Amino acid sequence: MMAAAKLPHIFDRLPPLRGRAQADVVLAPTTWFRVGGAAEIVVRPADVDDLCAFLAALPSEIPVLPIGAASNLIVRDGGVHGVVIRLARGFNAIETDADGVTAGAAALDLTVAEHAATAGLSGLEFLSGIPGTIGGAVAMNAGAYGGDVAGCLEWADIVTRNGELLRIEAGKLGFAYRHAALPPGGIVARARFRARAGDRTAIAARMADIRAAREATQPVRARTGGSTFRNPPPAISSHKAWELIDSAGCRGLARGGAQVSEKHCNFLLNAGTATAADIEGLGEEVRRRVHATSGVTLEWEIKRIGIPGAKPEVLA
Ligand SMILES: Cc1cc2nc3c(=O)[nH]c(=O)nc-3n(C[C@H](O)[C@H](O)[C@H](O)COP(=O)(O)OP(=O)(O)OC[C@H]3O[C@@H](n4cnc5c(N)ncnc54)[C@H](O)[C@@H]3O)c2cc1C
Repeated sequence: MMAAAKLPHIFDRLPPLRGRAQADVVLAPTTWFRVGGAAEIVVRPADVDDLCAFLAALPSEIPVLPIGAASNLIVRDGGVHGVVIRLARGFNAIETDADGVTAGAAALDLTVAEHAATAGLSGLEFLSGIPGTIGGAVAMNAGAYGGDVAGCLEWADIVTRNGELLRIEAGKLGFAYRHAALPPGGIVARARFRARAGDRTAIAARMADIRAAREATQPVRARTGGSTFRNPPPAISSHKAWELIDSAGCRGLARGGAQVSEKHCNFLLNAGTATAADIEGLGEEVRRRVHATSGVTLEWEIKRIGIPGAKPEVLA
């Protein structure tokens, strides 16, 4: 495996922080795929004021990347240069009231859905099936089973790269399919969702249905990253990504320790020993085969971040 280029260390240039900063933190254990190299620095700010002060004083040339539960990420084997921000305690409060839920960006989507259900609030059941954080859900416009963040978000508190805290109304976040137009380098710190009074039994039943549907159709207990590729727009193809992948004969295709799921072929798996290069390379091979058989170029939905540790090879 090719070694990642060694970059000058930036630990000594970090501004003061009430939270925690660590150098050379291997990210693999914290990602859903369980792959990936080390972050040069991981910062866990104590709260939003700490995050704002830290970013305001951090030299502007140092790259900053927020990550949540890393359920939509391939972290490459060479690691991540700069500062990775992980929000934790100080960003996970959840408050419910008569017509909505306000949640910190580190709160898990499932926990927010459960709080809403306990408060008898309907409209956020879809969050129960998405294994990420609220920050990642806003950034990705996460959605499932007929609901998405764009459909229920009121506002998000976002910290800009220069440390300014902005409250941005949902209508100004440019939501599109699995996309939000956050300010460049913006980090979601808190979000407010609309919900309505509902019947607790019906809400619980809806969440149970979502759980059962997922268990039946997706490899939810595997080391995966969710849907790998976006469905092509109808103007390009009337087929979903998984149908194109299946028709290209890629169901079960393997490369190193990576495999296309037999259960849902738009999911890639770390079957045990995969590197990020195996997973990314397998994804590229799937794209190549789908293009060869259907003429459609699949677009990655999973975000790939960091420095390659080895060049993805293409299978013969
Ligand atoms: C089994 C499985 C099933 C899934 N099913 C679905 C599904 O049905 N629907 C769906 O939409 N997704 C699904 N996903 C994908 C994933 O769970 C969502 O995209 C989720 O919203 C990502 O949240 P996260 O906290 O894990 O973000 P990460 O994966 O950590 O990051 C994703 C992106 O969000 C950015 N980000 C993270 N936190 C912040 C923040 N605080 N501020 C700004 N940007 C931030 C990151 O920089 C990155 O670009 C699934 C994933 C898995 C593994």
